[in-house]
Amino acid sequence: MATVQSTVAATTVESSALTVFKNEPFVDFTRLDNVRAMREALDKVRRQLGREYENVIGGHRVRSEAKVQSINPSHPEQVVGIFQKAGAETVPAAMEAALKAFESWKSTPVTERAELLFRVAHTLRERKFEWCAWLVFEVGKNWAEADADVAETIDFAEFYAREALRLDKAQPPIQLPGEQDDLRYIPLGVGAVIPPWNFPSAIMAGMTMAAIVCGNTVVLKPSGDAMAIAAKFFEVLEQCGIPDGVVNFVTGSGSGFGNELVKHPKTRFIAFTGSKEVGLHIHELAAEAQPGQIWIKRTILEMGGKDSILVDSDSDLDEAVTGVIASAFGFSGQKCSACSRAIVDERVYDKFVERLKDRAEKLTVGPAEENPNMGPVVNATAMKTILGYVDKALEEGGRLITGGKAVEGRDGYFIEPTIISEVKPGDTLEQQEVFGPVLAVIRCKNFDDGLRIVNDTEFGLTGAVFTKSEERIEQARQEFHVGNLYINRKCTGAMVGAHPFGGFNMSGTDSKAGGPDYLLLFTQAKSIARKL
Ligand code: NAP
Ligand code: MG
Repeated sequence: MATVQSTVAATTVESSALTVFKNEPFVDFTRLDNVRAMREALDKVRRQLGREYENVIGGHRVRSEAKVQSINPSHPEQVVGIFQKAGAETVPAAMEAALKAFESWKSTPVTERAELLFRVAHTLRERKFEWCAWLVFEVGKNWAEADADVAETIDFAEFYAREALRLDKAQPPIQLPGEQDDLRYIPLGVGAVIPPWNFPSAIMAGMTMAAIVCGNTVVLKPSGDAMAIAAKFFEVLEQCGIPDGVVNFVTGSGSGFGNELVKHPKTRFIAFTGSKEVGLHIHELAAEAQPGQIWIKRTILEMGGKDSILVDSDSDLDEAVTGVIASAFGFSGQKCSACSRAIVDERVYDKFVERLKDRAEKLTVGPAEENPNMGPVVNATAMKTILGYVDKALEEGGRLITGGKAVEGRDGYFIEPTIISEVKPGDTLEQQEVFGPVLAVIRCKNFDDGLRIVNDTEFGLTGAVFTKSEERIEQARQEFHVGNLYINRKCTGAMVGAHPFGGFNMSGTDSKAGGPDYLLLFTQAKSIARKL
């Protein structure tokens, strides 16, 4: 496998003391050598599709009677992998293995745990194109979207390793006279890691690595739509020397295995990213103390969004259109950070919609391996739900500007980039998360009115404003109520370190992944005072 892009030396605990964290550079796909390397990787991975993967509990390969498949949404007849369908009955064994591993992992020096993450980063960097290819086949990311996901995975490994080392040397507390006072961050115990499919590498691996670098052990239950990427990640962990039982890899349904795992009395914390509905359900389930449970379970829940971009009358309209198109249609709108509402000052509304239409109609849609602007949506259910939202929006008085239907003559789950104008505040399309390539354009009277509309949903994840006015930028800083606000740029593409990520309100617990506070969520602080 060619590794054209990989020129960065592996980080180690010793060298990390010398280097500050830097984001992994994106692959330049305008370079022919990178295009060639990506095509080779796609061919290599294509030959590996359809293989069966076992669950791994305490280092043992485990099969179950029932199987479940992961398919390629660009070509639904193509099976990406066959997986075990573990049910609730598998939870005790997985928990036991994780509890056993916790006994030694919790006291493994943090330097060793960080070293594991540095090795993971190095391995992924070496195999970057191959890693991207798995994302292309399993969830339909185009090359740049796949690369961004993989780069973020590497960033999480490098960042959380450094963070764990930093936390270990945390500032000592105030010293009382006659005492030696100490504050240590110790692990919690066994966690359930329950990721979504849409950042199948970065979020799955990020939550897992954050948990284990702090000394916890986990049961990782990947999304049913992204099991192969998680299985490949688990293989990387094994190659990098992870001890048995520190991560237990179990595929099984969310409502069966996942539900029971959350409920288990020995589950100490749940790191979840996914929909509002499932997040709230997990929150409720975790709150109910089970017989034999001796702690309050901690939940880290990152959920959906109804993210907006507010376009002021004085903004650079071309820049605003570029930002909205990228945020609304990147990965077919299947990002929690995707712009699903453009809220536009009525003085520039018509001109804006016209330019938006023009740009959206130039986007290419097709099988992800061909590297179009937009690949498919993830599965048949998603396709039906998304098109249902389009119908509902039109029923409620929206005007179809472009798109609105499945791409004809294709067997994959392709939906045209869709823009619906004249959507009113309070309409279904204006309030509910669609998670597909459907953009609502809403008219506002002025900036104040726009901000009111921005904040008038139950979510609060990301958002952006386009304006030239310093005063209105300041107003947005104060009043635009989201966890991640962007000014004069798109509202997707948060970078580890620079943009700690997590939302307000029903968008989640604002855990700020990729930020300096994140690892604290996976630890508990112990104060130790010794009389001298
Ligand atoms: P989802 O349907 O909520 O599923 C997320 C995970 O929960 C999956 O692994 C799923 O397993 C599991 N699950 C389902 N029911 C469960 C239960 N009763 N108990 C335990 N686990 C259960 O979400 P998704 O469709 O994968 O992802 C899209 C959603 O994630 C969107 O709403 C998006 O906004 C959100 N998201 C948020 C962020 C953020 O940082 N805020 C980032 C990315 C995505 P199965 O697949 O087996 O059902
Ligand atoms: Mg799939």
